[in-house]
Amino acid sequence: MRDLLPALQARITSVVVDDTVASVPLAHRVRTLLPAAQWQTRQPEDPLPRDARTLYLKAFRGRFLRPCPGTSHYRCCGYHILHIGENCPLACSYCILQAYFDDPTLKVWANWDDLEAEVVTTLRAYPKRRWRLGTGEFTDSLALEPLTGMSAWLVELLSPWANVVLELKSKVADLSWLAAVRDPRRVLAAWSVNAPEVIAREEQGPRADLLQRLNAARTCAAAGVRVCLHFDPILFYPGWEQGYQQAVEAIADTLRPKDVAFISLGSFRGMPRLIASIRERFPQAQYAVAELVPGLDGKLRLLRPLRTRQLAFVAQLLRQAGFGDQLYLCMESDVVWQAVLGITPGQRGGLARYLEHLAFDTPNR
Ligand code: SF4
Repeated sequence: MRDLLPALQARITSVVVDDTVASVPLAHRVRTLLPAAQWQTRQPEDPLPRDARTLYLKAFRGRFLRPCPGTSHYRCCGYHILHIGENCPLACSYCILQAYFDDPTLKVWANWDDLEAEVVTTLRAYPKRRWRLGTGEFTDSLALEPLTGMSAWLVELLSPWANVVLELKSKVADLSWLAAVRDPRRVLAAWSVNAPEVIAREEQGPRADLLQRLNAARTCAAAGVRVCLHFDPILFYPGWEQGYQQAVEAIADTLRPKDVAFISLGSFRGMPRLIASIRERFPQAQYAVAELVPGLDGKLRLLRPLRTRQLAFVAQLLRQAGFGDQLYLCMESDVVWQAVLGITPGQRGGLARYLEHLAFDTPNR
């Protein structure tokens, strides 16, 4: 996306870098690309930065590779998180990160040697396992890509592993990483999609609009990289039917079913802490003041009949457009699966296995 780097340059006013990673290539690259930012090298005893306009290049000491926690009692998709950093320069009203983290600092793990060592050791230990990895759990996979080049590096790092597929999930249209792709089967390019008015009203910051996302997806497909789309969260608001119809029409106008590995559908949901934060920080977010009921996992959701109606509506539109084979539901029960898709994950061998099949066995269908 042409104006993403200037937007990041305007947003990030200071950079803090841990002393042990102050000389790594990433630090040099960031320093060159953010010439106006104040620069501080942090010693272990120094206080941690806590500021949304600060980028913290951190020597991360935790686990880089970890199973996605999913949610209890509902069907989850069995992928592994490749942890690259925390927080995001975009501001979506519904963002789960506001409930995960008290601290708004943009963080990027800068000890790539440690990341590489852990990932390579783990992959070598399980050579027969098939891995679906994704970086979009605690940050947007590509929102800082013009600054860091981290996704391009990961794409190269993982491309020799035939048993690994890396999913890059984003709301920006940065495609700089595409030049690093050696084997398009090893990468899934994923975009969150939504009704155009939801994108306009509830997603702030330098995000791409729906058509920019879909055009980027089409470019990936033309390069042989399969696309994933995530309709998540589907929101309830007056006129939602037209909004989601417009979104599906845009998808059908831009992508062919064979370009798309899978499409997830997820109704808005969140722990009470997230809902309270949305209500406080985003007064325009009417969907968060609707009647929400706790599910078995403690998350608040729309009443099941309403959820089912919305999910079934979008699923039906996608089916009519030829995208029926790739659909799955995010964090829903068998009852809702049956009502929306007429099948349960168990009938497909389990959701994790089904998605593994779509990710690995159906290139360029
Ligand atoms: S793009 Fe994703 S991570 Fe960033 S604010 Fe929006 S929902 Fe949160």
